[in-house]
Amino acid sequence: MPVLVMKFGGTSVANLDRIRRAAKRIGVEVAKGYDVIVIVSAMSGQTNKLVGYVEETSPLFDAREYDAVVSSGENVTAGLMALTLQEMDIPARSWQGWQVPLLTTSAHSQARIEEIPTDNINAKFGEGMRVAVVAGFQGISPEGRITTLGRGGSDTTAVAFAAAFDAERCDIYTDVDGVYTTDPRICSKARKLDRIAFEEMLELASLGAKVLQTRSVELAMRYKVKLRVLSSFEEQSDEAGTLVCDEEEIMESNVVSGVAYSRDEAKMTLLSVADRPGIASIIFGCLSDAGVNVDMIVQNISEEGRTDMTFSLPTDQVKRAEKALAELKASGGLNFSDLITDMDVAKISVVGIGMRSQSGVAAKMFKVLSDEGINIKVITTSEIKISVLIDRKYLELAVQALHDAFDLDKAA
Ligand code: ADP
Ligand code: ASP
Ligand code: MG
Repeated sequence: MPVLVMKFGGTSVANLDRIRRAAKRIGVEVAKGYDVIVIVSAMSGQTNKLVGYVEETSPLFDAREYDAVVSSGENVTAGLMALTLQEMDIPARSWQGWQVPLLTTSAHSQARIEEIPTDNINAKFGEGMRVAVVAGFQGISPEGRITTLGRGGSDTTAVAFAAAFDAERCDIYTDVDGVYTTDPRICSKARKLDRIAFEEMLELASLGAKVLQTRSVELAMRYKVKLRVLSSFEEQSDEAGTLVCDEEEIMESNVVSGVAYSRDEAKMTLLSVADRPGIASIIFGCLSDAGVNVDMIVQNISEEGRTDMTFSLPTDQVKRAEKALAELKASGGLNFSDLITDMDVAKISVVGIGMRSQSGVAAKMFKVLSDEGINIKVITTSEIKISVLIDRKYLELAVQALHDAFDLDKAA
């Protein structure tokens, strides 16, 4: 029988009523004749609560134990969903990551999927099971320990299952009815897109649009998974939501197709480091070894052989970065006069494939921000995106002003 993958995010399984509603939706697809693989997230708020427990217990926690704790939210919803389906007389069984087994690397809290053997689940489908409910976000390392795939990782679980089982489609059910030109929660004029190209979705996701985890888009692109985002709160037709597809499948699109933001950014500046070959490698090598994900980097003009180095990183990695740099200084590995941390910044990005062929987007973006009196602290660009770091208090204003200026409320 053809296989369909359906993923339900945290708000879609937030309580027993919502789980029942999702189960009804699954029942519709089972009735159409699909064998269904359902990927569930933890109930909304649960993963944050578990992360909070870990951080309070151990600020510089052992990532293996972090994974042991934060993966547990999904176990609850997987079991409850299987029970709900059974109550509806649909043969269903739950699977935790290690039972599949979903094999990952050992990069705890950020593990990557290596392989999903299909035999166990297929054997059960062969015996008449109609729905395999799989706990998202989790897997097992070569050492036999539980791993997690990074926040939002159930999206990636879903796409990886769709690829492994050659599913007809991977439907991501969430609390909005598709991918929008920007987060509809902070911009009332945000417009739902019927289609979005993989590359644009990849940029939007990696720049903060959490509707899909970046890695899930990468996998869908590589394995040609038909990926759709839709609402679990409305009755859905086969055409509902947003289809993430190849660029060639989209007729018209705006130069800028979306605005993304990332709220929890921090900026660190190392004052007065030596301006000589190898310094950047020492600084960023040390940060990388400490598990810090540095994003934007600027090096100031040097004076008398010394310079300042500024970079951005997620706020929750600041403690780690400060500790690593302090140790590097103490060991004589790097000399700097001070380390300044700004915890109140946000990153705003505009994304669009059309930027490849049209100039002036950056100039327009900077003008819009300056007209609103917003100071730009750091800029980075790539072929199809421009990102700026600004004070967090201007985040909503900046997103709305850019959305207006690039006419994103109107279709191309
Ligand atoms: P789930 O729990 O279903 O995985 P998430 O909270 O991870 O849901 O992702 C859905 C949220 O993503 C939406 O509620 C919305 O606020 C946010 N979001 C950010 N950018 C976008 C965008 N461009 N389009 C749609 N949703 C977006
Ligand atoms: N529950 C995990 C998280 O909140 C994974 C997911 O929902 O995708 O990040
Ligand atoms: Mg999510």
